[in-house]
Amino acid sequence: MAGSAAAPAGTIADPDPAAPFWAAAAAGRLELPVCEDCGKAHLYPRSHCPHCGGARLAWREASGRGAVYSFTTVHRAPMPAFKPEVPYTIAVVRLAEGPHLTGRLAAPPGRARIGLPVRVAFRPADPGPPRVAFEPLDES
Ligand SMILES: [Zn+2]
Repeated sequence: MAGSAAAPAGTIADPDPAAPFWAAAAAGRLELPVCEDCGKAHLYPRSHCPHCGGARLAWREASGRGAVYSFTTVHRAPMPAFKPEVPYTIAVVRLAEGPHLTGRLAAPPGRARIGLPVRVAFRPADPGPPRVAFEPLDES
């Protein structure tokens, strides 16, 4: 479990600084570490803000919205378990709050393009933590 009395969640002494991210994801929410000094969000979780060096960080719910920054479409399964899923697209999404997050694009490969507006949609997985996925937003 994340955090303890001696080591707040997300600090370097925490054994799993990303635990709050995955706990929120399991509940269907996107949460990001936000600096209480400069107000900027970041990923991956760190002990100090990468923007200003501040140590006052808090997990805040994010909008879940962003735009495709980059993507690749996988046509050849990297291992047998993925064979039924090809072709699929992995996207790097620039979130509205600034950080980038990588996940599966839940759309046909031909729909992927740089700048495509998306929202995060966590997919349950058993075993393991939810998978990060993105659904295209209506562009009309
Ligand atoms: Zn900061």
